[in-house]
Amino acid sequence: MRSDSGNRDFPRIRRSPSGSRWRSRSATVMGIALVVGLYFTPALFERFVLPAAMPHLPGAKVPPPGFEAASGPLGLPPATSGSTAYVLQKSPDPGQPFVAYDPCRPLHYVVRPDHAPPGTDVLIQEAVSAVSTASGLQFVYDGTTSEAPSEARESYQPARYGKQWAPILIAWSSPAEAPKLAGKVAGTGGSAYAHIPGEPYVYVAGQMTLDAPGLAETLAWPEGPAHIRAIIMHELGHVLGLDHVDDPTQLMYAENSGQFDFGDGDRAGLALLGTGECVPRL
Ligand SMILES: [Zn+2]
Repeated sequence: MRSDSGNRDFPRIRRSPSGSRWRSRSATVMGIALVVGLYFTPALFERFVLPAAMPHLPGAKVPPPGFEAASGPLGLPPATSGSTAYVLQKSPDPGQPFVAYDPCRPLHYVVRPDHAPPGTDVLIQEAVSAVSTASGLQFVYDGTTSEAPSEARESYQPARYGKQWAPILIAWSSPAEAPKLAGKVAGTGGSAYAHIPGEPYVYVAGQMTLDAPGLAETLAWPEGPAHIRAIIMHELGHVLGLDHVDDPTQLMYAENSGQFDFGDGDRAGLALLGTGECVPRL
């Protein structure tokens, strides 16, 4: 059995000369801060190469295959405008156009609520609902967790989450805990994939960090909640497999200038990412 795992920053981040920043019109008008709240995304990748027999061995690093796998997709994405204003994260396999979550099973998620700005639970719910609608992927909230975010996060944590892939972790955090949140970065997001030779690569576990101290300030802005919801939607876009796109009218643009909802390109990309292959052997 061979298992490779490792994390790396996603190397194709587009950064403006001033960095990758979420600019707020509201903040400018208010004269608070010219640039606040922001993010760029080091998508977190982790790779496992799995022999099929391995999940049954003691101490397995992957769950038994097919947990909650249905015979067909649980939902379908809506028709889109056909926009091409999106960029997919790079597939590790040149023969596979993109990596996606398995649409035949629900995507579980948990929230690490420490230091969450008040009233933001509903913003997470609304952001998850928005990406679910756009992708057709079905999400299940499994409650809160004490798990801290980590770039070396294990995709299978049976002691904490049972014999299934670890849920998507949405962690309110801080630059002290998650150094990539330093400066003007408001959040990061990405997913780990798993792969059995002969099968498609599939995302199995995702992670998002949100800068709680920074976003607590954002919350006080006019339209602060909408800013935060948009940041969470952007990071969920990364979790599902979108990269930054060089189009400022899209939410997946690296610098936001007041975009609060998905654009046509974001929606087209998310719809595509809702049509990944079902891989019950994982
Ligand atoms: Zn981003």
